[in-house]
Amino acid sequence: MSIKKLSKEDFKSFVSGLISSDDKVVGVKAKGNRFVFGDLESADELRLDYDVTLLPPKKYVLPQVETLMTYEVKGEYKTECNAEPTVLLGVHPYDMVAINQMDAIFSQDEYDSHYMARRENLTIVACDVVNASENVFAASMGSATVKDGFDVLLTDLGDSYLVDAATEKGEALVAKAAGAADATDEDIAKRKQVWQKNEEALAKHKLNCKTSDLPGLLDKSYNHPVWEEKAKVCYSCGSCTSTCPTCYCFDVQDDVAWNLETGKRYRAWDGCLLEKFANVAGDHNFRQRREDRFRHRIYRKGKYVPAKIGGQVACVGCGRCVGACTPGIANPVEIYNRLLEDTNL
Ligand code: SF4
Ligand code: SF4
Repeated sequence: MSIKKLSKEDFKSFVSGLISSDDKVVGVKAKGNRFVFGDLESADELRLDYDVTLLPPKKYVLPQVETLMTYEVKGEYKTECNAEPTVLLGVHPYDMVAINQMDAIFSQDEYDSHYMARRENLTIVACDVVNASENVFAASMGSATVKDGFDVLLTDLGDSYLVDAATEKGEALVAKAAGAADATDEDIAKRKQVWQKNEEALAKHKLNCKTSDLPGLLDKSYNHPVWEEKAKVCYSCGSCTSTCPTCYCFDVQDDVAWNLETGKRYRAWDGCLLEKFANVAGDHNFRQRREDRFRHRIYRKGKYVPAKIGGQVACVGCGRCVGACTPGIANPVEIYNRLLEDTNL
């Protein structure tokens, strides 16, 4: 595939062209002094210099609420799937790694056709980080840069972008960019400098072991006092899971109309810190205690999910949970480092 260079002026015209095409175009824009992913109405709105978005882009593959099917109570059902072609602009490397992890999860075991239909309709334009956020620690988790999953990767070189088209979809998209020229070796070397700089800049919290040590560390930490200590001040608010790019749990519900003749089945984001998350039939809750729920989230990121996806830790170090947690207890690195102090690996 090809690597091009595009001036910032030409890039803006390229984005304007995309917005006036038939595809839905979403990207990062300012909301007050924060940033969000949302529909773009003009190229001027796009902010590739953002630090971090409030919510990750997972909502474009796994919406907060999604109707799965509609039905007649005594008759037929119809599968619903609203997956429209969408260009997603400005995904940071750590969020791209998170989407790659979800791709692996949702395409194995129970193949999730709703997730996969949305994913296949997405064209992802990732971008290297320009401004590191206050709490980002992607470098500690191996996701300060990303090598695959995207269709195009942009790197800001000052007055231009390096435009790396990695797939056929990416090539087709970049072909629409007037003014793109082949990148030189010097341009590609500048990208390497950006990657090296980001390995330093995106390490606001340092993990004191290798990520591959985490499953073994957690094996020895099930009864550690930290779970109870932290859980004492946890509100069970679920902010840490809803802002997390790698958390993908959902709850499935039926909504039957008042006439009891028709209904819809939908799914909505759920989170393992919420009190009712583990409630099952008979009102039995197998994770009633807050410390059990608190521990579960940390185990899930460092042990359970890695066992399903080839050892990759299910925390990409975006830092969103750190900022979202009012009592300041959600940072996985802080917990892992605390466990390390008391454990011989
Ligand atoms: S656990 Fe926290 S830092 Fe890690 S990916 Fe989730 S929100 Fe980001
Ligand atoms: S760890 Fe923090 S963000 Fe997560 S549920 Fe508890 S209080 Fe809320």
